[in-house]
Amino acid sequence: MNIRINENFKNINQSYLFSEIARRVNSYSTENPLAKVIRLGIGDVTLPLPASVINAMRAAVDEMADQATFRGYSPEHGYDFVREAVVRHYSRFSVSVSQDEIFVSDGAKSDIGNIVDILGNNRILIPDPVYPVYVDSNVMSGRKISYIPAGEENGFLPMPSEIDGDADGSVVYMCSPNNPTGAVYSAEQLAEWVAFAKKTGSLIIFDSAYEAFIGEEKNLPHTIYEIPGAKECAIEICSLSKTAGFTGTRCGWTVVPAELEASGLKLSAMWERRQATKFNGVPYVIQRAAEAALGDEGRQECMENINYYMKNAEMISSLMREKGIFFTGGENSPYIWLKCPNGMDSWKFFDYLLGEANVVGTPGAGFGKCGEGYFRLTSFGDRESTAEAVERLRKLL
Ligand code: PLP
Repeated sequence: MNIRINENFKNINQSYLFSEIARRVNSYSTENPLAKVIRLGIGDVTLPLPASVINAMRAAVDEMADQATFRGYSPEHGYDFVREAVVRHYSRFSVSVSQDEIFVSDGAKSDIGNIVDILGNNRILIPDPVYPVYVDSNVMSGRKISYIPAGEENGFLPMPSEIDGDADGSVVYMCSPNNPTGAVYSAEQLAEWVAFAKKTGSLIIFDSAYEAFIGEEKNLPHTIYEIPGAKECAIEICSLSKTAGFTGTRCGWTVVPAELEASGLKLSAMWERRQATKFNGVPYVIQRAAEAALGDEGRQECMENINYYMKNAEMISSLMREKGIFFTGGENSPYIWLKCPNGMDSWKFFDYLLGEANVVGTPGAGFGKCGEGYFRLTSFGDRESTAEAVERLRKLL
């Protein structure tokens, strides 16, 4: 063809982590058809949707079947009943967000990928290791990335003092509780980030997709807006995928505070325009499901599922403690990020676990250079398989 393409796609890392894992697992299973492989790798949930969510969906389906209650296009930014439910969600953390700062979407990945549309050519700061979408969406749009290394020395929680060079007017991606490391920023640490952003005129893009896994600890914020001043420097992206088992149901939201303004334009007005132009809203049935998940009964049912996963996480982290293996996460996070024993690199450890224990995890190297030598296990499996995997690892490690 004679067209020009987006040449930036040539700069994207082509080795997609999860397809390489699938390839290795398939080839192992073909050669060893009797092996019972347990997957503690991919971060997908396994428990069904809570009862109140299912009931809300059923009722909404019935409404769609009746001309009197049928709904067509949704408002692009979400029905008021969901935006109100999100406002109430924030009020649980004593955070005040107004309805028109909330933009309902089909999940956090879309919003993380699309937010680059409203941003110009800024310095992009991304922790390493990291959820790959922050990196790839910036590379696709031709942005250069500066990485902030995370490691054992900073507890996988990089701080602003570790940024090299001039950070004025940067865009910083943060995720807490973190995927893949499970590390969680304290209120004091987030306050340092907010102070940094305000001092340098930078924007924080805060991914709170795992907020619901934070336990009772008062000092671990569920939202960056628990930090005074954050509404002047941060966009927050959240999702019901892990909170309410919506990975296949698809609903999330982005908060763009009215205070955010650059170059004479309000970021909320730009995002509103971007979404109205390129997105036509979340299905009505799904928005009713989201409303139910965010309600008191829904939240309680979601927490029961999260507690189930967190018991799996506790089984895995106890084993790591027993074996003296360094790890982060496992508390306030569904992920356990461990150091590969005996200096093995991430993929060597992957093959070792697969071959010797028939357990599949995720090689840390797939999340960035600083992930080399580390490995991610997840607590999203069922209890029986997780317990069996832990027993196999107890014998092997
Ligand atoms: N953000 C992080 C850190 C994630 O780990 C994930 C999914 O694994 C997402 C966002 C995507 O969430 P969603 O399913 O809402 O697109």
